Amino acid sequence: MKYVSASIVVPVKGNFIKNGVVAIDGSGTVTGVFAEDDPLVREVAVEFHDGVLVPGFVNAHCHIELSHMLGKTDREVGLPKFLSTVMKMRAAEPDEIIADIKRADRSMYEKGIQAVGDHVNTELSAAVKKESPIIYHTFVELMAMAKEDIQPRIDRARDIEFYFEPDRASITPHAPYSCSKDFFKVFRKMIREDNLLSIHNQESEEENRLFRYKEGAFLDFYAEMGLDASAFKAQARNSVQSYLPHLPRNNKLILVHNTFTSLKDVDFINRQGRDVFFCVCPKANLYIEGKLPKILNFVPDQERMVIGTDSLASNDTLDILEEMKVLADHFDHLDFLQILQWATINGAAALGLSDMLGSIEVGKRPGLVLLEGMHNLRLTDNVTSRRLV
Ligand SMILES: [Zn+2]
Repeated sequence: MKYVSASIVVPVKGNFIKNGVVAIDGSGTVTGVFAEDDPLVREVAVEFHDGVLVPGFVNAHCHIELSHMLGKTDREVGLPKFLSTVMKMRAAEPDEIIADIKRADRSMYEKGIQAVGDHVNTELSAAVKKESPIIYHTFVELMAMAKEDIQPRIDRARDIEFYFEPDRASITPHAPYSCSKDFFKVFRKMIREDNLLSIHNQESEEENRLFRYKEGAFLDFYAEMGLDASAFKAQARNSVQSYLPHLPRNNKLILVHNTFTSLKDVDFINRQGRDVFFCVCPKANLYIEGKLPKILNFVPDQERMVIGTDSLASNDTLDILEEMKVLADHFDHLDFLQILQWATINGAAALGLSDMLGSIEVGKRPGLVLLEGMHNLRLTDNVTSRRLV
């Protein structure tokens, strides 16, 4: 048994505790959380740290199999151009891809990340995930615009899903602009109710233009990639309002990015009565589009907010603390305790892991992360993280 204490312990569930003490056993399971004057902890040797102790983070959105693309794409070119670059340049030797997946996995663990929602198109990350101390939920992405592609792509995704731990993998549509209405119709009929969904949503204004008017940079992207755009018709409304009703209604859903989601869209989504989470990936949004989501539109849905890093194709770190700093820096009204909830317990709920991690509570194995260089619980550039457990 180990007793870890810090200047401030933030369990996420419940109030923070000055000089609190966390008892943790050899497996990393929390067996007690105590105030400093608790008679139980006066008797034992306590390891004290100057800093803020928080549970391990949840990275709700990543593509670890793109880790070999670090530094290979230009910034602020907009999503369609970014996508064509990734599609053209992602090919590499499997050994090289796996070596970079391994490096990314280790770095995420060291940065205090305890669980990851990870999108894949291949099985290349399966072996690393199996060995990793991080708990992954793998989303196998599906894209199908032409009718004849629908069934073969679903079959292939199912084959890939099979490489990953059964309870921790599901198949998911990749994005509204890469899936036709016909695809959604087939998809909704064939998935289980416990199949988690995670779809890129309104990452670019071009996506809304495609659905509203059938115009804009996505049409150039389809032409360049030799894709048939005839599946899309002008709908006179934003993308999410067009495709969401076609997604199976009872499946838990993570909407990723939401950079160009309007207040009206948020109302529309909430009226659907779905179990939905909003994931923000601030550094990737700044990298690709140079814009951030209108966070205020979502803040009434606090418990539904989660944070992701996206991939090293659109980010220079896979570090949730760095994403939190960007949010704190750009949105004055968000405080650390709020953002920490998004980065921990909410992400755990989104991935179906809240009974295991996301808060410092008895019976969980959340990991323990020490934040150093923090004053008055403010997230400034000087704050660093260190995994203790
Ligand atoms: Zn993504």
